Amino acid sequence: MKYDAIIVGSGPAGVFAALELVEAKKKVLIIDKGKLIKERTCPIIAGKVDSCINCPSCSGVSGWGGAGSASD
Ligand SMILES: Cc1cc2nc3c(=O)[nH]c(=O)nc-3n(C[C@H](O)[C@H](O)[C@H](O)COP(=O)(O)OP(=O)(O)OC[C@H]3O[C@@H](n4cnc5c(N)ncnc54)[C@H](O)[C@@H]3O)c2cc1C
Repeated sequence: MKYDAIIVGSGPAGVFAALELVEAKKKVLIIDKGKLIKERTCPIIAGKVDSCINCPSCSGVSGWGGAGSASD
């Protein structure tokens, strides 16, 4: 499939940029290195570890919604 725009990062900036493009009838692909929002869990918050273990993709700031989804 061909896209008019490919956005790297599904944080607020990427999501709202995509919204503008879709409203202008553009085909958009969003790519993010993080997980889907339902799969975003921090091992500290889950009580599995006491301190940051530097996950390959930090669920606190990466994935759908970016830092805005799970920071609070
Ligand atoms: C702890 C915390 C609390 C906050 N509280 C508030 C608040 O109360 N109110 C407020 O207004 N703001 C708050 N913020 C700030 C707000 O979250 C950010 O301003 C906002 O998320 C920035 O949006 P963004 O889209 O620019 O970047 P981000 O949200 O950082 O999104 C970037 C996305 O790009 C992805 N990405 C990065 N590099 C790559 C790559 N190479 N390949 C693929 N994907 C990539 C990341 O995974 C991420 O999902 C808080 C931030 C933090 C960390």
